[in-house]
Amino acid sequence: MSTTTEQDLKDRTLLGTPGAGGRGVGRPVIINTEKKIVKPEKVNEDRIDDEVELIEKALDELVKEFEGLKKINNEEDVADVMESQVQLLRDPELKKSILGKIQDQKFKAVYAIFSSFNEYIQLLENTEANWLKDRTIDVVSIRDQLIDTVRNKQPDYIHADNGVIFAEELSPTEMIKLSRFNLAGIVTEKGGLTSHVVILAHSLGIPCVIGVDWKRMRPEDFEFVMIDGDVGSVLFEPTDRLKEEVELYKQEKLRKEGIALQWASEPDETECGCSFTIRGNVEFISELPRIKTHGARGIGLLRTETILFESGGFDVQTQIDFYRQVAEASGEDPVIIRLFDAGGDKLPENHEVEHNPFLGWRGIRMLLDKPDLLRQQYEAILRVSAEYRGKIKILVPMISHMQQIEKAKDILEDVKDELRDSGVEFDSDIPFGIMIEVPGIAMMAKEAAEEVDFFSIGTNDLTQYMLAVDRGNGKISSLYQPSHPSIWRMIQFVVNASKEAGIPISVCGEMASNPLYAACFLGMGISDLSMTTNSIPAVKEMLCTHSLAEFKEKSTQVLNARTFSDVNLIFSEWQKKLELHHT
Ligand code: PEP
Ligand code: MG
Repeated sequence: MSTTTEQDLKDRTLLGTPGAGGRGVGRPVIINTEKKIVKPEKVNEDRIDDEVELIEKALDELVKEFEGLKKINNEEDVADVMESQVQLLRDPELKKSILGKIQDQKFKAVYAIFSSFNEYIQLLENTEANWLKDRTIDVVSIRDQLIDTVRNKQPDYIHADNGVIFAEELSPTEMIKLSRFNLAGIVTEKGGLTSHVVILAHSLGIPCVIGVDWKRMRPEDFEFVMIDGDVGSVLFEPTDRLKEEVELYKQEKLRKEGIALQWASEPDETECGCSFTIRGNVEFISELPRIKTHGARGIGLLRTETILFESGGFDVQTQIDFYRQVAEASGEDPVIIRLFDAGGDKLPENHEVEHNPFLGWRGIRMLLDKPDLLRQQYEAILRVSAEYRGKIKILVPMISHMQQIEKAKDILEDVKDELRDSGVEFDSDIPFGIMIEVPGIAMMAKEAAEEVDFFSIGTNDLTQYMLAVDRGNGKISSLYQPSHPSIWRMIQFVVNASKEAGIPISVCGEMASNPLYAACFLGMGISDLSMTTNSIPAVKEMLCTHSLAEFKEKSTQVLNARTFSDVNLIFSEWQKKLELHHT
């Protein structure tokens, strides 16, 4: 009888980047791996009408399919993606181009689609903008689906149930179609951590690993695959024991999620009776219901660039509708609206490529250069504030210079004057706060605190700027360490400045989602935390079941540590102690 050695398992394991957490086992399902190539083929004059009819029918069929998917899926971001596909299929310019290639240039329908879509794809690719690149993936997928529809070909994913999907990359549409099946996991070769495939996998609860060079393993030669989205591994042909472990893990995960959710309705108090506040970070409308179910006290960070990305438009009325919907969902609790933090590369009309967009034209830098955009956003927020007095706050991203605070405030006052003159109501005391995410302004916290109503610490950017590590660069990802002692000390410095000035402070970066980090923030004097809604129950459980004295003791240790390994050791030992206590 043969036994499986550690080495065998290692040889059958591929590593990638963790995209969405969780573990799963399933059969490998390979989709979408070949690039479609369609050769130019001419059509006889007497067949032109037939080819045109094929196009009309295929367009109708796909529009119907997308609209159907939109109806059966309640997730708002899913509906938005579907809507943008329908809009593309109904785009009169695109259709004109396809029909022109058939009627004038006498090409067959499939080539006319291929060529017209490719011209559009080329335009998108030339911009080098991240969000437009995500869109490119989707346009390629619609192109291929349209070609398959004309050719009457069945899609690969009809066998996806209980499978682990292997793809070069997946478009949002493909993700949504796949979400109808019970997927064990997703493995892709390409795709960034901010890509739709990762965002949707996360919100659909499907384990996902990206950046995996999977083709060399020939997944089709294996019966089962095990995926671990937390560590980013893919194991071909797991042993029976490993498969059983995954089953137990899934049951345990469900059990823990159920218990943690019970904390949502508990009072926001530590074991010793000190109060804290947990709010939600919101990016998509679909996340709004979780504000209530997961026990968030309102929204501590509304990332408004989503409106720009999802709808492609950000006129005042679109924004008002969006903010109103958000304000309604958070009931009596506050909503902190962060101004657009879209970099220059994300603006549709900007085709200039920045060499280092993270050090580039984003957040307040871009808004001050585009005062009309800033004014529109202020106007929309102010108009909505009239209906929700005392609830809406303004948060400015990427402040690095004191003058930017001054300018952003001046423009706000200007917009207020204009609205006043036109008799428009608004909350004239609307609080004005800034993100502390650039070290340059963090060091000026005392002075900045004199000028604003509150601080919100953005640890995602603060970490990358403090340590000079691009948060999207895989080569140096081991240096992206939020546990680096300098980050904790910088945060403490900012907390002290805010206390001295008497202004509220919160943390809204990913660090707050970690229950142990969150506990340390409480120990350091930050009792207001905002995080991804899914993380709230576990953080709340941690904060409710321990005392502030314990949090203070740990934060003191962390603040005195020398290296990030020392900090990690403090946290891992603490975690072990908590687990021991639990069993
Ligand atoms: C941050 O930088 O920590 C933050 C919350 O903002 P974003 O992740 O949107 O840059
Ligand atoms: Mg940020």
